[in-house]
Amino acid sequence: MSERKKKVVILGSTGSIGQSTLKVARHLTDRMEVVGLGAARSAEKLAAQLAETGAKHACLSDTDALQSLQGQVSADTRIYSGDEGLIELATLEEADIVLVAIVGIAGLRPALAALEAGKDLAVASKEILVMAGEQVMETARRTGAKVLPVDSEHNAIFQCLEGRSPQEVSRLILTASGGPFRELPAPDLLKVRPEDALKHPTWDMGPKITIDSATLFNKGLEMIEARWLFEVEMDRVDVIVHPQSIIHSMVEFTDNSVLAQLSVTDMCFPIQYAITWPERLANPLPPLDLASIATLDFETPRFDDFPALNLARRAGEIGGSLPAVMNAANEVAVARFLEEGCTFPQIWEHVAAVMDSHEVIVRPDLDDLIAADCWARAVSL
Ligand code: MG
Repeated sequence: MSERKKKVVILGSTGSIGQSTLKVARHLTDRMEVVGLGAARSAEKLAAQLAETGAKHACLSDTDALQSLQGQVSADTRIYSGDEGLIELATLEEADIVLVAIVGIAGLRPALAALEAGKDLAVASKEILVMAGEQVMETARRTGAKVLPVDSEHNAIFQCLEGRSPQEVSRLILTASGGPFRELPAPDLLKVRPEDALKHPTWDMGPKITIDSATLFNKGLEMIEARWLFEVEMDRVDVIVHPQSIIHSMVEFTDNSVLAQLSVTDMCFPIQYAITWPERLANPLPPLDLASIATLDFETPRFDDFPALNLARRAGEIGGSLPAVMNAANEVAVARFLEEGCTFPQIWEHVAAVMDSHEVIVRPDLDDLIAADCWARAVSL
């Protein structure tokens, strides 16, 4: 096994996952080298990250923030900008692996470009596999690049599968914390305010994904991701509520044996495994103390009160452009809810209505998917 450093590009470096990835890099200095960093608009944070990592390639999507970045970095730093810049970073000659953690659709083209260039892809942005799972996996197969899941659930399943074929799998079982309203009576969901929904019981994440965890759309998106990543049909993807978030997900095999992956809740675990795979390396994270946790609980999700799961199942079963439409409609509805422009249940009511009015494109190409995304956003306004 080579002890060579893996050269990593991080797209979305100033977000929650990006910052955790830099934390991992700090402890893996002899095995991981950050060579490129991309952010949306936080010039100051990005400049500090460039100084810390010594990365010589940087991209800001927002061209207005560029000037401010230029004044804060060393003269030998190459600065790229806009969507084209993200693609240049994703295909950097020296990069071995590209971690994409950009919220929204902006990560899709860079992710495909990285795979096309033969780079391994560590996926943290859900949109990539939800919208274009088929295209992503096809590209990876063709170029021999690897798709490595960063999401804790998929990373867990990836660890449990470890080389098993899809034929040996009877069910993928995604665990869900259930979010802050797991026990809230259905009528009270109407009274939920953004500040209530932003309090996640077990994970500390960005606002969009925290709201998605409260509606369970996050788990719905993860069901679709799992279907593509692990090449199983939607009816072999299940969800169970597990409030402690200690089991990150499970695989039930055809012999009814179940393997689970457990650790304390910290995104640095799955990020490190995605980067160092197939190796396991020591880390400074706390070991799991099961005796002090004492109890692991499980419940069936409240499918009727949280319709996101069934909407996602339908989107995943029908496929084509429908998952992209569901994702976009949800993004708009979440933004509206955060601005107090709609109630909490109106998030899934809106998504359902947009899905119902969509004429599904059966075998979409990338342009069709982006058009479907735009259509869903336009009708959402
Ligand atoms: Mg997750």
